[in-house]
Amino acid sequence: MTFNDRKQLKNYFVLGFVPFGGDFDDFIKPFIKEICQLEKGKVFEINGVRCLIIASLGQVTADLPQGNDLACIKRHGAIKGCRSCQATKEKLTSADLNILLIARYHHITDELYNRMETIITATDQRKFTTEYGLRNKKSILDLLKREKHLQTLQDVYHLIAGKIQRLLHITVNLLSNDGKKAFVTAWKSFEYPQQWQKLPNPVWHYESFIMSDCLHLSTVMPFIINRFLCSNYIKNNSLTTIQNRCNITRADFATKMIVTYWKVVVETMVLVFKKSYNTDDYILLQKCLKKEMEILSQVFEDFVNLPNLNASFHLLKNAKTYATLLNSAVGVKEIVHKIFKGIVPHTNRKNIELDLLKSYTTLFAIRHLIDGGIDPRLSRSSNAFTDLSGNFARIMSDWFIVKECLKDDNGETEGI
Ligand SMILES: [Zn+2]
Repeated sequence: MTFNDRKQLKNYFVLGFVPFGGDFDDFIKPFIKEICQLEKGKVFEINGVRCLIIASLGQVTADLPQGNDLACIKRHGAIKGCRSCQATKEKLTSADLNILLIARYHHITDELYNRMETIITATDQRKFTTEYGLRNKKSILDLLKREKHLQTLQDVYHLIAGKIQRLLHITVNLLSNDGKKAFVTAWKSFEYPQQWQKLPNPVWHYESFIMSDCLHLSTVMPFIINRFLCSNYIKNNSLTTIQNRCNITRADFATKMIVTYWKVVVETMVLVFKKSYNTDDYILLQKCLKKEMEILSQVFEDFVNLPNLNASFHLLKNAKTYATLLNSAVGVKEIVHKIFKGIVPHTNRKNIELDLLKSYTTLFAIRHLIDGGIDPRLSRSSNAFTDLSGNFARIMSDWFIVKECLKDDNGETEGI
């Protein structure tokens, strides 16, 4: 499927929802069982033709804590809590990290689990799991054929937007009150592209910034800062800290450096979201990620040993494995998640999973009809739009469970 097709909502198929407060393992069991069968291959009849279908797990996307759970690694607060490397938490952003040497590899993690199973006492097992940053038990996904470290990716949107949000927060906090006013003035008077939507005020409302707001603002931040920032607008103690950390004496150098840091972060961002890479791009990406990690952890205390910054460093491996980082990004999945979360307050909350599925299938049906009732993936076309008045009531009814009853397709009623 092409990159543009993959971004279409209609190409996303929701298989189910983990019930609120539910257990992931219980929920995913039926899916794992079916994929195990499909890994071996199964014959299906499609449009009258018998076909052998083989399927397996492609990639797992999750946020930082759950991603670690699924890769069988302890969470990022642990001594070794990175699912891609074995850097200790005191050395996550260290300049001398040799990633190839300390990277996690599937076969090595499996060997460690085999060794762990031979350890008899619980105390020794705990020591062993702490030493290697392993979880106490394997993930349910290990029942499938997979490479747990390569296929459980660090998500590029979360990493980059999270980093920029933090940098924005730090930058705003460096400014004195006059500095903040000057920032807002420069921000308001900047010549934005016409098609951009209005951004929330970055000084007073940065906490309401969503991922795309952060990415938008960051592209113009070096220009905005360059226009207004002078050493008088930075709080004295912050200015001294930067000068000490960077070993510089002149105050105006510190302001120039802040512009430079933003520039490096934005250059890295542009490269990270590139649609295709050649060999030189990979080398450039590696340089940019290294430079970014070094300068951010040098200047700002908040970035020292930040798990997010260490995870960004593994983007090069993801890019090389999946050709680009966009192939494994979860931007659309995140927006689907947001849409569903937004629906919840509008339901009567009796059976949220059923309401969400009903809403999803209804919208899917309407989208299909608006597309002309033709979808090459379906063997039959639909002409329901021609008789929409007859079908509309059926499509739009039964959205929520109400007190009286439920009617199923056979017309039988079921008490609630
Ligand atoms: Zn790491």
